[in-house]
Amino acid sequence: MSMQPQVVAELRSVVGRDHVIDGANDLRIFARDASIEGAMPDAVVLPANSAEVAAVVRLAAKHRVPVVPRGAGTGLSGGAVTIRGGIALQMTRMRRILEIDPVGQTALVEPGVVNQELSLAAASHGLFYAPDPSSQKACTIGGNAAENSGGPHCLYYGVTTNHVLGMEVVFADGSVHWVSGDTPDRIGLDLCGILVGSEGTLCTITKVKVRLLRQPPTVATMLAAFPTVESASHAVSAVIARGIVPAALEMMDQVTVGAVEAHYHAGYPTDAGAVLLVEVDGIAESTRELMSAIREVLAANEGYAMREAKTPAERELLWAGRKGAIGALGRIKPNYYLHDGVVPRTKLPQILSAVGEIGEHYKLPVANVFHAGDGNLHPNILFDLRDHGVLDQVESAGEEMLRAVIEFGGALSGEHGIGLEKSAFMPWVFSPDDLYVMHQVKDVLDPDGIMNPGKVFPDPDRKRARLAGRTGLAIEAKWW
Ligand SMILES: Cc1cc2nc3c(=O)[nH]c(=O)nc-3n(C[C@H](O)[C@H](O)[C@H](O)COP(=O)(O)OP(=O)(O)OC[C@H]3O[C@@H](n4cnc5c(N)ncnc54)[C@H](O)[C@@H]3O)c2cc1C
Repeated sequence: MSMQPQVVAELRSVVGRDHVIDGANDLRIFARDASIEGAMPDAVVLPANSAEVAAVVRLAAKHRVPVVPRGAGTGLSGGAVTIRGGIALQMTRMRRILEIDPVGQTALVEPGVVNQELSLAAASHGLFYAPDPSSQKACTIGGNAAENSGGPHCLYYGVTTNHVLGMEVVFADGSVHWVSGDTPDRIGLDLCGILVGSEGTLCTITKVKVRLLRQPPTVATMLAAFPTVESASHAVSAVIARGIVPAALEMMDQVTVGAVEAHYHAGYPTDAGAVLLVEVDGIAESTRELMSAIREVLAANEGYAMREAKTPAERELLWAGRKGAIGALGRIKPNYYLHDGVVPRTKLPQILSAVGEIGEHYKLPVANVFHAGDGNLHPNILFDLRDHGVLDQVESAGEEMLRAVIEFGGALSGEHGIGLEKSAFMPWVFSPDDLYVMHQVKDVLDPDGIMNPGKVFPDPDRKRARLAGRTGLAIEAKWW
């Protein structure tokens, strides 16, 4: 059911005529994120500032219309998909870096600022913003805060919540609040801690104050080959067991390396069963010492062809391959379903072999590219949506992989969130009592349930809602 014309007119009176999109073809662009989910919003609204966000949310509350905040739409769990229709609240007009304080080492930004733009701006002060999702060229700081995103360098530096000092947010009644403050210690109840990672279900984030870090004086980056994913996994555990926490410790399997090398020509060894990309940073003496200790550990675990980047350009190319890996996999199949689970690091060999077996059972190619140091695996099921019935197979395979993750003592998500994709699986890990407590928090902050409905919490209507989404995918499939 589309939105009443009167509501659209009221929205236009808040943000201006051009900043409400309600034409069917234009809306289609906002129907998807980077997951396999899809559903059309009734209207896309692009506010310019916090006051406009508050006014839009007040209107939505008055008319009981769902509000789904949206950044760059790179989310991988369907979080920004308007499964119940309503307003896609597109935050990308709010993209100013309001302040960089080089002395206090903080930045105050609007939510639509792209992650990499913040790091580039901070670099001119010798600073950087540590959380670096592989999508950092596109994803927004608001989306990162809403998902509590990670990235290759979060192994050492911590994920988004460790770098957010405070936020300005708009709650479901349209009220605007600052949560937390300027200092690293959050005093009183940790509201910021609740809202970071709330996936648009509790509030709209309109400003974020983040911590910046001083750029390390030296960085060393090394690529190492392994005969198998198992040997590489053992090496990962051995490095950490040696008491070394590298800045980044990433793994790619042979399928991924083949696609990456064909695209980037970064010198990745295509005959290897897996590669590790290892980075350490700090003062020159300590990086040298750490890298030599890491080499020893990797060699003792069948590591070979170890190659350290000699120039910044070489380092950049190694990282371009890793961060562009998901795009490069498009060479193999046009569609992907990227999963995200975490297991204790020591369980990596077992879970990766279980993932391989599930892929073989369903006859679906699976590529693994992931934050190995955190035990955060990303099995990427590759498929062609034009193959009849393949999506059901892909979803079943994905569900089995997640079940295996839980059986190995893991968690449903390492960084991509629960969104729409995994809400039905929440009872696998949370008891009814746990879920009841979460519902109570939701009820206090959003009593009418207008904020991003159908996400995170298990939803009895999910199946029906997803079928509606599926229609969206089928329409698009005709174009490919
Ligand atoms: C190729 C690729 C690589 C990726 N690599 C990583 C990675 O290394 N680590 C990682 O953690 N993720 C990764 N992701 C996932 C994704 O990029 C992150 O989840 C990112 O934080 C989403 O940001 P976005 O701006 O695109 O948000 P969107 O996809 O637009 O939205 C994501 C969620 O945040 C909510 N939201 C967005 N903005 C706001 C706001 N202002 N206020 C309240 N809620 C809001 C939405 O409602 C939704 O629930 C990757 C994705 C891709 C496609």
